[in-house]
Amino acid sequence: MSAESFDVVIIGGGPGGYVAAIRAAQLGLTVACVEKRGSLGGTCLNVGCIPSKALLQSSHKYEEARHDFAQHGVKLGGVDLDLAALMGRKDKVVSGLTKGIESLFKKNKVTYLIGAGRIAAPGGVVVAGPDGERTIAAKSIIIATGSDVTPLPGITIDEQRIVSSTGALALAAVPKHLVVIGAGVIGLELGSVWRRLGAEVTVIEFLDRALPPFDAEVSKQMQRILQKQGLAFKLSAKVTKAVAGEAGVTLTVEPAAGGPAEEIAADVVLVAIGRKPYTEGLGLDAVGVALSPKGFVIVDGHFATNVPGVYAIGDVIGGAMLAHKAEEEGIAIAEILAGQHGHVNYEAIPGVVYTWPEVATVGKSEEELKKAGIAYKVGKFPFMANSRARANDDADGFVKILADATTDRVLGAHIIGPSAGDLIAEIVLAMEFGAAAEDIARTCHAHPGLGEAVKEAALAVDGRAIHI
Ligand SMILES: Cc1cc2nc3c(=O)[nH]c(=O)nc-3n(C[C@H](O)[C@H](O)[C@H](O)COP(=O)(O)OP(=O)(O)OC[C@H]3O[C@@H](n4cnc5c(N)ncnc54)[C@H](O)[C@@H]3O)c2cc1C
Repeated sequence: MSAESFDVVIIGGGPGGYVAAIRAAQLGLTVACVEKRGSLGGTCLNVGCIPSKALLQSSHKYEEARHDFAQHGVKLGGVDLDLAALMGRKDKVVSGLTKGIESLFKKNKVTYLIGAGRIAAPGGVVVAGPDGERTIAAKSIIIATGSDVTPLPGITIDEQRIVSSTGALALAAVPKHLVVIGAGVIGLELGSVWRRLGAEVTVIEFLDRALPPFDAEVSKQMQRILQKQGLAFKLSAKVTKAVAGEAGVTLTVEPAAGGPAEEIAADVVLVAIGRKPYTEGLGLDAVGVALSPKGFVIVDGHFATNVPGVYAIGDVIGGAMLAHKAEEEGIAIAEILAGQHGHVNYEAIPGVVYTWPEVATVGKSEEELKKAGIAYKVGKFPFMANSRARANDDADGFVKILADATTDRVLGAHIIGPSAGDLIAEIVLAMEFGAAAEDIARTCHAHPGLGEAVKEAALAVDGRAIHI
C-alpha cells in the first residue's frame, strides 16, 4: 500500500473523528484523519466542551471566594478578578488537550493531515492543505465534520457585540448586561459563567421554559435555582431584530404568540439557539450523499450513507449533539469497518448541564413515558437529606429515578445537584445492564457520599427510602 492510500480516511478530527481514527488503528487498519482547523479535538476541545468547562470552573471558584468561603470560616481580604489570567488558563487547558490528541495519533500511527477534505469520488479524498492539494485513496471514508452555530434570521453574528458560543468563550471584558438568546444547555452554561463574573444576564427563550427538552420538573426547578442566583428569564418571547452600535445592541423582542414588541438594550448578545450540521465544501452534492431536509447526513444503522464506502458519525448525522455520543459512534464505526459488531445504545446516552448545581439526565422523562403510555414509578430523594451534600453546603436539587411499574426496570433518571454529571454514570451503567431500581437500591454506596442520594432515590421507587 502506498503512503497515500489508507483503509480508512476520516474527515474531521473532533470527538467522533479522532476516536474513530484511534480505534480503527488499534484494530490494525491504516488510518488518516483530515482536519482543517489546525488543531485536533474539533468543536469540543477547541471551542466547546473544554473551554466552557474551564470557564465554568474558574468562575465557580471566583463566586465561591466572593460569597461562600466566609461561611466555611475562610476569610479573604478581598477578591479581584483577573479576566486575562482566567482566559489564559482556559487557553492552556485547550492547547494541552489538543496537543495530547496529536500524541495519541503518533502513538497509534494515525496519519494526521492538516487541510480541508473533499470527497472527490467514493474512494478518493482531496486534501487542500497549506502546501497545496493532494489526493489520497481510501477504502472507506468517514464524514465526521460536526456542526456549526445556528444563526438567527436577521441577526448578524460579529463575534464582538453579537456573539456565538465561540465569541462568548473569549470576551475581552465582563459585559454590564449580557442577553442570551436561547435557554438551552450552552446558553445557561455561558450565561452562568458571565453572571458569576459580574454581568447582569437576561435569558430570552422562545418556549415557555428553560432547558426545554429536559424532564419538566427538572426544567422548572433549575430555572428557579438559576433565578435565585441572579439570572433573569424572559420566556415565551422571540427576538426579531438586533441592531449593534457603538454603545451596545438594541434588541427587539416580541411575545412568541405575537403581540406588542419591546426593546431591550444589551452590551453583548449571545445567540445560543442550537447547532446545525456542517458539510460545507465536502463535495457531497457531487458524489450524491443524501442529506435530510435539515442538512444532516442520512445514515443507516451501521453509519453507512447511500454512497457505498462513505460513512458518517457525530453531530453531522444528528441525534444528541454531544461529544460522548460522537465518540461512541466513532468506536462503533471503526469496529464495524474492522469486521466487528460495533453498536451504540441510544437509550443510554447521558446529557449534562455543567451549571452549579449540575443537571444530568438519561433515558426517558416523565412526559415521554406518559406520551408513550408506559406505566412507571417515581423514586425521588432531595440532596437536602444527603449528609455529604449538607456537609459540603451544596444541597440544592434531587435525584429522580423512573422505573417501569411492572418490571421495576430503570427507564430514566434526572438529577439536579452537586456533581450530577458524575453521579448519572451509575444509572447509565444500570440501564446498560437492564437493571431494576431494586438493583441500585441493594448496592452498597460509601458513606458519606453524594451517591447515597442515588441509592435512596432507587429505594424511594419502592417507597422505602431511609433518610426521608
Ligand atoms: C460551547 C459548547 C459547549 C459544549 N459542551 C459540551 C459538553 O459539555 N459535553 C458534550 O458532550 N458536548 C458539548 N458540546 C457539543 C460537542 O462539542 C459536540 O457534540 C462534539 O464536538 C461533536 O463532535 P464531532 O466529532 O461530531 O464534531 P466536531 O467536534 O464539530 O468536529 C468536527 C471537525 O471537523 C472539521 N471539519 C469540518 N469540515 C471539514 C473538512 N471539509 N475538512 C477537514 N476538516 C473539517 C472541523 O474543523 C471540526 O474540527 C458543546 C458544544 C459547544 C459549542
